[in-house]
Amino acid sequence: MNLYGFYLLIKMTPAKILIVDDEIELERLIKQRFRKKILAKELDFVFAHNGTEALDKLRTEPSIDVVLTDINMPEMDGLTLLSKIHGIDPNLKAVVVSAYGDLSNIRIAMNRGAFDFITKPIDFQDLAITIDKTLDFVQKAKVQQEQLQEALEQLRYQAFHDQLTGLPNQNLLLNRIRQCLDSEQQNNLFAILFLSVDSFKAVKEGLGHAFSDRLLVEVAHRVENCLQPTDTVARVATDEFAVLLSNLQEFKEAQEKADLLRQALKSPFHLNESVVSSNSYIGIVHSTIGFDQPEDFLRAADTAMNYAKTRATVSTALFDTSMQARILERLQLEADLQSSLEAKQFHLNYQPIVSLATSNVVSFEALVRWQHPQKGLISPAKFIPFAEETKLIIPLGEWVLSEACKQLSKLQKQFPNSLPLSMSVNLSGVQLENPNLLQSIDEILQASLGSGSSLKLEITESILMDKCSAAMALLEELKAREIQFSIDDFGTGYSSLAYLQSLPIDTLKIDRSFINGIEHRAKNLEITQTIITLAHSLKLDVIAEGVETQAQLDILRSLGCDYAQGYFFSRPLDEQAVVAFMTETTSSRTSLFLNRA
Ligand code: C2E
Ligand code: CA
Ligand code: CA
Repeated sequence: MNLYGFYLLIKMTPAKILIVDDEIELERLIKQRFRKKILAKELDFVFAHNGTEALDKLRTEPSIDVVLTDINMPEMDGLTLLSKIHGIDPNLKAVVVSAYGDLSNIRIAMNRGAFDFITKPIDFQDLAITIDKTLDFVQKAKVQQEQLQEALEQLRYQAFHDQLTGLPNQNLLLNRIRQCLDSEQQNNLFAILFLSVDSFKAVKEGLGHAFSDRLLVEVAHRVENCLQPTDTVARVATDEFAVLLSNLQEFKEAQEKADLLRQALKSPFHLNESVVSSNSYIGIVHSTIGFDQPEDFLRAADTAMNYAKTRATVSTALFDTSMQARILERLQLEADLQSSLEAKQFHLNYQPIVSLATSNVVSFEALVRWQHPQKGLISPAKFIPFAEETKLIIPLGEWVLSEACKQLSKLQKQFPNSLPLSMSVNLSGVQLENPNLLQSIDEILQASLGSGSSLKLEITESILMDKCSAAMALLEELKAREIQFSIDDFGTGYSSLAYLQSLPIDTLKIDRSFINGIEHRAKNLEITQTIITLAHSLKLDVIAEGVETQAQLDILRSLGCDYAQGYFFSRPLDEQAVVAFMTETTSSRTSLFLNRA
């Protein structure tokens, strides 16, 4: 149903009011007074004679919109009832009916979330107005809730699907592989096929990207036609697809499927006037290879596909341990990570975050850098996943936090006029599971900033949703120290409205992939707009990541985005460069970005 339909439905269905009062006479009076239609809306009354009965009614009749409750009643009084209503339905509104002059009770009632109150003896005119007003509020809240829900569903869909082909994306495929790994059945055989089509580049260069896009859509279509409903095909890179074949009887079915796919992709593609023929390469990995991470399966199948490409004679290859050079390299990296931590081969860079309202720098994001003695600078995108797998992220993350807080403390002293200046630090899911996290944060704050009010922790959306219930208590503890929270990479995971509303978060950071191309991709613009609206209706700030051009900045401004970060303002800077940058931006009274922004 579309939103307007939903709105009409809410308007048309009679509103249900639960009256809770031990005065039996009231029931008769209300029935009599409201027999005639007084309000524009149809009303339907349900009665209970004390709090306990009311709770029963609320549990068995979930469509109640408004509760009207007396205070003094036997068994359970109205104030106790109020404190329990929220647990049943957070959107339910209650109006308290109280004896005249009962001010202290009214105060308690309002503190427990009562929406309004009326006094006894009841003036029915006043009652009708109050009901009308409360219903209006409840209905608006419902429509807004539905709008938020719809926006999230849209975001979720695109977080797990490829926009061009409509196929699942790598995230969704990895989830499905994880499900196969987790599934109880021991003899659940599965295989991953990694597929690459070699004509993509030539088509793109020769005919342009509209044609190469059409080629990809056609490839996706042909692959889908070869699969069972239980299989998953995902687009995992520009011209690469991966297929999960689950519920295999024998592994030879995987090879047969690979042959079938190659056959299907062999017949020429008709792209307008041009006919293009294409070769495909497929790498296969079996579930019995002994990995326990979905990413490892995908990497292995990719390795096998690359192996197939290098061979003149075969176009499909099964992954085996002799192809494991890459895996060895990874093990080496893990070992190096350990020794680098001891040898202090890490340092931090800081990237400014700019307010779009004032064009001032309000914050920095601390980003870790690894200077490998032989391999040079290694990107965190490459080594953080290893650090997480080996739990080395715990000591590393502690070091990052401590270093970043010290740096902020120095900056605050050096640039007192640019206060309040805050620091954002990335927190990994593994750190959230560390039982000593709270204590170590306390110690770090004690030794540097004194309080948590200028520290912001960035946690990715998927981690928060994954560990939500466990994280909730921890986040509350951290919040009590005035630490703030951002959801990082927002829009790339599975967000739930209930969690977004209940977690103590302050900011959503729109993932770079949406900002990239926002000028010419309508879809990106639409997603960004949805996230900004969603954030603002949840009373959260929004930061756009990865802003690289003036045009992107202009669009974000017009959409009402609060903050931005990206190469347009500055790349991540080392300690000295940050000081130089701050000196420059604060000395010229007009901000560095005013002329750009
Ligand atoms: P992230 O938290 O999303 O960080 C933003 C990344 O975007 C950084 O990459 C930054 O250099 C890059 N970036 C900023 N502006 C632009 C831009 O305009 N264009 C483009 N193309 N890129 C931009 P970096 O430093 O390579 O970090 C990658 C990821 O590694 C981070 O993504 C974060 O998830 C992780 N990471 C970095 N430092 C830490 C850390 O101390 N702890 C943890 N747990 N993770 C970290
Ligand atoms: Ca971040
Ligand atoms: Ca991010």
